[in-house]
Amino acid sequence: MDSIVVIGGGLAAANAVETLRDEGFTGPLTVIAAEPLLPYERPPLSKEVLQGAQEFEVLHGAHWYDERDVRVITGAAATALDLAGRTVTVNTGEALHYDRLLLATGAQPRRPEIAGADRALLLRTRADEQLLRSTFADGVRLVIIGGGWIGLEVAASARQAGVDVTVLVRGGAPLSGVLGAELADHLVTLHRSHGVDVRTGTTVSGITETGVVTDAGELPADVVLAAIGVTPDTALADAAGLAVSDGVITDNALRTADPHVWAAGDAALALNTVLGPLRVEHWDNAIRQGKLAARSMLGQDVSYDWQPYFFTDQFEFSMEYVGHSAPSDAVEMRGDVAGNEFIAYWLGGEDGRTVTAGMNVGIWDVNDTLRALIGTSVNPAELTDLR
Ligand SMILES: Cc1cc2nc3c(=O)[nH]c(=O)nc-3n(C[C@H](O)[C@H](O)[C@H](O)COP(=O)(O)OP(=O)(O)OC[C@H]3O[C@@H](n4cnc5c(N)ncnc54)[C@H](O)[C@@H]3O)c2cc1C
Repeated sequence: MDSIVVIGGGLAAANAVETLRDEGFTGPLTVIAAEPLLPYERPPLSKEVLQGAQEFEVLHGAHWYDERDVRVITGAAATALDLAGRTVTVNTGEALHYDRLLLATGAQPRRPEIAGADRALLLRTRADEQLLRSTFADGVRLVIIGGGWIGLEVAASARQAGVDVTVLVRGGAPLSGVLGAELADHLVTLHRSHGVDVRTGTTVSGITETGVVTDAGELPADVVLAAIGVTPDTALADAAGLAVSDGVITDNALRTADPHVWAAGDAALALNTVLGPLRVEHWDNAIRQGKLAARSMLGQDVSYDWQPYFFTDQFEFSMEYVGHSAPSDAVEMRGDVAGNEFIAYWLGGEDGRTVTAGMNVGIWDVNDTLRALIGTSVNPAELTDLR
């Protein structure tokens, strides 16, 4: 009987093994997971769990894997991959043979290349979240380097815990590249209205025992979090000789050039049939690609053809975004922007009226409607807030 090995114990891995069993694969199935925990979802680590509003939990308990006869080796890192011999070496000393292999190694947070960078906390794992949360107390001064989604979500969560939060952003308003200037300003205004000190145009050159060194002087800090993005974890694939650039390169069925190896989730630079080669660092993608990789590994005719989706929650701003807009796209907003209940449409394409992305803020059960609009040409005068 063929055996399947999955490297990585994240959301893509968990969804892949679930689908493999659901779709009738009965052979030996092993997950090698570097973290000490069974797979879990990361989004609550910057939101409800970090706020203490929700208990941390893994996706499925051990019994769930037992029932499906899935062996999960937690706290074990795959250290080498032999493509010719179809063997994975694990740091426990074990070597596992595979007939089919899924690389679901995810991504690692980047550490800034500045003096004292080791002093910064990072946020990727449950352990990171516990460490960060243990510093939260009234009046503690937290400086967050980076104003991406995670930086801003942590800012909101920490502020709600009484922490004194400063967010340092090198360029203009955080996320303006994704959201456009108006929406990015909206988020900055929201954060400032809750007491977050958002400083744009600020470059950090070092972290000391007492604070952060910036081009505008030294800023005192008790805790520093670096939230400057992630790098796909491609080390194993790269060392094995698989094609890697910004992720492990796959075709539209998540196959690498090696006929026995697939890749999914944050680690995969996969060929999207609509958008071209794409690496997506979002929850929904890890779920969908985990499932798709499983079907592909079972020989089903499947294709990566969907638009990216993600969500965020920051203070009163809760949204879902679907699509893939370009910075040059026009943004049309409908509804109550100040009240954080609105729809944003990104329009681009050759006619300037083709929907490239949509975002529902505080208005629910409409994301599928937005998804269906993507790629269609619309009359801006007819766009509504879908209520
Ligand atoms: C704090 C936080 C908040 C987020 N919030 C959102 C959100 O609101 N919305 C959204 O859409 N997305 C969010 N994301 C992103 C989302 O969580 C990721 O896209 C998703 O976790 C990717 O899943 P994955 O399985 O591909 O990789 P990962 O979750 O990174 O899992 C990969 C696993 O593989 C393990 N691994 C790596 N190398 C090896 C090896 N050699 N051997 C064994 N194991 C290995 C890693 O330790 C890791 O546990 C958030 C992420 C974080 C960190």
